[in-house]
This record gives sequence, structure tokens and C-alpha cells, in this order.
Amino acid sequence: MSAGTMDKTGTMGKVDLKTLISATADTIAAHAEELTTLDQAIGDGDHGLNMKRGFEAVRGEAEAFAAKPLPEALKAIGTKLVMTVGGASGPLFGTLFMALGKEISTEPDQADLATAFGKAIEAVAARGKSHVGQKTMLDVLQPVHDALLQGKTGAEIADAADRAAGATVPMKALRGRASFLGDRSIGHMDAGARSTALLVRAVADTIERHA
Ligand code: ADP
Ligand code: MG
Repeated sequence: MSAGTMDKTGTMGKVDLKTLISATADTIAAHAEELTTLDQAIGDGDHGLNMKRGFEAVRGEAEAFAAKPLPEALKAIGTKLVMTVGGASGPLFGTLFMALGKEISTEPDQADLATAFGKAIEAVAARGKSHVGQKTMLDVLQPVHDALLQGKTGAEIADAADRAAGATVPMKALRGRASFLGDRSIGHMDAGARSTALLVRAVADTIERHA
């Protein structure tokens, strides 16, 4: 099956879901140590391993996921992530993909994706009882949503995600394990914000290359 893709004019290209799955699993595997190091500074140091376990599990079933229509594929990927990532981030990333699957159409354009993504972020916030400004993955997800709504290119969206992850450094954590540290959480990048930015760049790059 193919996922709807975006370019500057918002028209659709085609990208194989298997390619998207391997691009996301590759970037998580390549950065697992970095994610672990970030989580060691203000968490318990399992984020790299958690994410790698989850995205390798998704990679292992890529064929079956890719055979489904996009909404069903995303829901199945989300379920797999909930079961395999673990930690606080597993249910949250799982919710993101499951809600995206619930909201998205079979062949979305960029505007459709933006709408569905906005609803998926709301589901993550509800699940995490969290909101923007608390030094979590939401601090990357929200600017990505804004960039999608503004019709930005994939490269611009990926850059916005990187800037947003960087902007978590001076923030004080108010959710998750890092919040236990209070002011001592200041001065470190949030691990979930970084992994979110990595996923966004992998998806955006893959889609742009195939548009
Ligand atoms: P754990 O904190 O259980 O060890 P991980 O290390 O895998 O789980 O994931 C930690 C990341 O999850 C954090 O960096 C943060 O981005 C995200 N996170 C944790 N709690 C929340 C929450 N309530 N809302 C949104 N994101 C959260
Ligand atoms: Mg952790």
C-alpha cells in the first residue's frame, strides 16, 4: 500500500509504507545511544532501548502493516508500539499512531494529514495529562503540527522539529520522570522530544524523496 505524500503544492505523491517503516526504525537504531544518554541525564536511561525495541518490532511486521489500508496500518503500528516500547513513552507514541490511524483518510493530502495530526496530538495530551511547555514530546509535536498547517515543506518541518527539540533544553520538566528533578532538569534536552524530531525527519525525508 502507499501513504499519501506531500510536496510544496500539497499534491500527493506515493511512498511505500515499508520504506517509511524502515526509515523510522533506521534512525531510531542509529540514534539509540544518543537517546539513552539524554534519558540518563534526567531520566532512567531506557529511552533509546525502549524506542529501538518498539521500532524493530514494527520493522519485523512491516510487510503485514504495509498490506493494510493506511488508517488500519497506523492503528496496528500504534498497538505494536504500545506493546513493545514500554515506559511512559510507549503508550504515548502508541496513542499518537493509533489516533492518527483513527483520524486519517486512506490517501491524505497535507491538509488532511495536518487535521488528523492535530487530533492525534490531542489524544497524546489527554493520555499523558500533559500540554505544551512541560518539556516532553508534545513540545515537538505541536510545532510540527503548526508547520504542517502552514503548508511547509518536509525539510522545513524537519528543521522546525529539530529547533523545537533544542528548545526543550532550557525548559523545566513538569511531566514524566524528569519532573522529579525539578530545576535540575533544566539544561538537558528531553529524550522524547529528540526521538520525536528524529521520527519527523525520517518521515519527511522519505516522503520528499518519493514525491
Ligand atoms: P520512562 O520515562 O518511563 O522511562 P521513556 O524514557 O521511554 O519512559 O520516555 C520518556 C519520554 O516520554 C520523556 O522524555 C517525554 O518526552 C515523554 N513523556 C513522559 N511523560 C509524558 C507525559 N505525561 N506527556 C507527554 N510526554 C511524556
Ligand atoms: Mg526513561
